[in-house]
Amino acid sequence: MKPDNYRFATRAIRAGQQPDPTTGAIMTPIYQTSTYAQEGIGVHKGFEYARVSNPTRSALEANVAALEGADHGAAFASGVAAIEALAKLHSAGDHIICGANVYGGTDRLFRQVLSRLGLEFSFVDTRDPVAIESALRPNTRMIFIETPTNPLMHVTDIAAAAQIARRQGARLVVDNTFATPYFQRPLELGADAIVHSSTKYLNGHSDVVGGIVLTSDGEIIEGLRFLQKSAGAVPGPMDCWLVLRGTKTLHVRMAAHDRNGRRIAERLHQDPRALRVFYAGLPDHPQHELARRQMSGFGGMMSIELGDRERAERFCRATRLFTLAESLGGVESLVSHPAAMTHAAVPQAEREAMGISEGLVRLSVGIEDVDDLLNDLDQALPKR
Ligand SMILES: *Cc1c(COP(=O)(O)O)cnc(C)c1O
Repeated sequence: MKPDNYRFATRAIRAGQQPDPTTGAIMTPIYQTSTYAQEGIGVHKGFEYARVSNPTRSALEANVAALEGADHGAAFASGVAAIEALAKLHSAGDHIICGANVYGGTDRLFRQVLSRLGLEFSFVDTRDPVAIESALRPNTRMIFIETPTNPLMHVTDIAAAAQIARRQGARLVVDNTFATPYFQRPLELGADAIVHSSTKYLNGHSDVVGGIVLTSDGEIIEGLRFLQKSAGAVPGPMDCWLVLRGTKTLHVRMAAHDRNGRRIAERLHQDPRALRVFYAGLPDHPQHELARRQMSGFGGMMSIELGDRERAERFCRATRLFTLAESLGGVESLVSHPAAMTHAAVPQAEREAMGISEGLVRLSVGIEDVDDLLNDLDQALPKR
C-alpha cells in the first residue's frame, strides 16, 4: 500500500505489512532466522544475513516511518542504541548540542561514553532558542532535543530549532518518545530525524526494549543502515513483531492516555496536596501555547511536586494502581521518583538546579478506568 494515501489509524494498522507471500498469513511472521538461502552466488531475495536485514524488522521500520511521515526507518536494540547510532553518524571533533533536561540515559551516553571518543557536547536549555543559537560552534553538526522532557515536561520549539540547525548546516534530531507521532510529527516541523524508545508508547505493553530512527534524509538512512550492519545493535525479530503489534493500537491507546491524563492533571491541579503539577496540557504550564501549537494532544505523562522526600515516599508506598517502577508509556499506570530513580546519576545540586527535587514524583498515566485512578491518587496523596 502507499501509506501516504491513508490517515493515521489506517497507517498504524496496515503500513509496512502485506499478507505473507508464501502462506497468505495475515500477520507478518516472526522471521526467526539468522540467514537466508541464496539461489546462486549473489542471487537472493534481498536478504543475506539477519544483522543486515530481516523481514519482520523491515515491516516495523516501514510501519513507524509511515506514522512519522518519514521515508525510512532504522530499528535498533534499544532507544539508547538508536541515539548512539545517530551520534555515531559524526566523527571525533564534531560538536553536538543536546537539551539539558533529556532522558538520563541519553545524558550518560553523551557525557560518559561518546565524549571519551572525541565527540564534543554542549548541554543547553533548549526551551530558549537563543541558548541554542549561542551554543553553536563552527563544528556543530547535530542538535538533539527532547520535547516534552522527562520529568519536567519542558517544551522546545521544534520549528525554531530546525531553523537554527538549517542555517548552521547541522541536523536537528527530536526524541519523540513522549508525544509519539499521534500527537507530534517533528519532520513536518523541519526536523531531519526522529528517534523513539519504542520500549515506551510505540510498543505500549511494557514487554520489549527497543529503539527506532525515522528520517527522509538519504544520507542519514544510509549512515544508519551502515551502522546496523557494522556496529550491530539491531533488535531481534520477536521484539520487532511485538512492537509492530503495539503500533496497531497506538491511536486508540494514545487517545485514552490523553483523556485520562487530562482528567488527572486537572484534578491534581485543584488539589492543594499537590503543590505543583507539570503537564503541558494545563493552561498554567509556561509553554502551554507552544505545546498546543506543535502538539495535538498531551498524553499521559506528568509530574507532581509533593514538597519533600518524606511525602514523596509516603505517596509511592500508598498507591495501589500506580505501581512504583521505572519506564513509562505502557497501558498500566506507573509512578516513579526521578531523583532516586531515573536521575539518580545526576549530582543532587545539579538535579535541584534542574528542578528535579526530592519531593517530585512522575506519573505515567495508563488506560485503566480513570475513576479508579483518581480514587487511587486521592487515597495516596499525603495530607498537608
Ligand atoms: C526510555 C527513553 C529512552 C531510552 O530508551 P531505552 O529503550 O530505554 O534504551 C530515550 N529517550 C526517552 C525520552 C526515554 O523515555
